[in-house]
Amino acid sequence: MAKVIHCDCNTIFRAETNDQLVRIVKDHVRLVHPERTDEYTREHVLRLASRLVSPAVQGAP
Ligand SMILES: [Zn+2]
Repeated sequence: MAKVIHCDCNTIFRAETNDQLVRIVKDHVRLVHPERTDEYTREHVLRLASRLVSPAVQGAP
């Protein structure tokens, strides 16, 4: 089941597995929001993640 996260900076991440999602989000936070790396734990990332139930998400601006 694909999951999706919308970052505060309007970046959208999609991944097929929790591990992949956590990895890409943490990489992004480290590069773009380095002051928030402590906040984006694995638990936090997975709590933010929503299941991708329809392709409508891809239509986001
Ligand atoms: Zn971001």
